[in-house]
Amino acid sequence: MPANATGHFFVLCAPSGTGKSTLVHRLMEEFPNLRFSVSCTTREPRTGEVDGKDYHFITRNEFLAMRNTGKFVEWAEVHGNFYGTPMDEVHKKLNAGFDLLFDIDVQGARQIRQRMPHGCYVFLLPPSRQALLQRLANRGTDDAKTIEKRLENARKELEAAPDFNYLIVNDDLEIAYAQLRAVYLACKLTPEAAPGLVPSIMETWS
Ligand code: ADP
Ligand code: 5GP
Repeated sequence: MPANATGHFFVLCAPSGTGKSTLVHRLMEEFPNLRFSVSCTTREPRTGEVDGKDYHFITRNEFLAMRNTGKFVEWAEVHGNFYGTPMDEVHKKLNAGFDLLFDIDVQGARQIRQRMPHGCYVFLLPPSRQALLQRLANRGTDDAKTIEKRLENARKELEAAPDFNYLIVNDDLEIAYAQLRAVYLACKLTPEAAPGLVPSIMETWS
């Protein structure tokens, strides 16, 4: 990632079906300076998903070619498909001063954190297995076998939650949104997020 980046980045992880997309869309609507890091994936588009907006939908061979030539900031295999964050996209948006939101899995978050330990790492939790099952079923995009796979994966992902900076339970959507919004705003106010701030104010003394 660029050393002179002006935007802040914000990594949000959640087991599939927790409500991440719902919350992220709302946050980006409220804060136009927050942009989504559009990942590449080899999975099939779901109904309503737009190529280039939700994901860059690419073939397995295209993905492997990008991976092998170091085009991803991070990548992972999730539920049998490949997902990766394209480096050029991150550079472009951060350098343009946009804040960037990464919707990635825990393996990807770990990889990014190794490079950028001071980012904002948020884990969104479902209130229970039953609630997650209900949401996945209601969403209607996955068959029973896929849902079972996602629930099993969710249990494993939850083990990583204590390593994150913030934990938000998406039980009541309004409360979860208020908390996510607060975390986003707070993350922009840390000393690491504004390294030049104090020196620039101190300069006014000289
Ligand atoms: P994700 O992006 O984490 O996979 P989605 O945002 O697609 O999850 O949400 C999965 C389903 O759960 C959607 O049908 C969504 O409307 C619903 N949902 C999201 N948040 C809540 C909530 N707090 N209570 C009940 N249903 C929710
Ligand atoms: P879905 O198929 O439901 O859109 O996403 C499945 C999982 O893959 C989610 O946990 C999502 O956050 C994760 N994911 C999406 N894009 C990326 C990416 O670029 N890298 C990684 N590591 N995970 C991703």
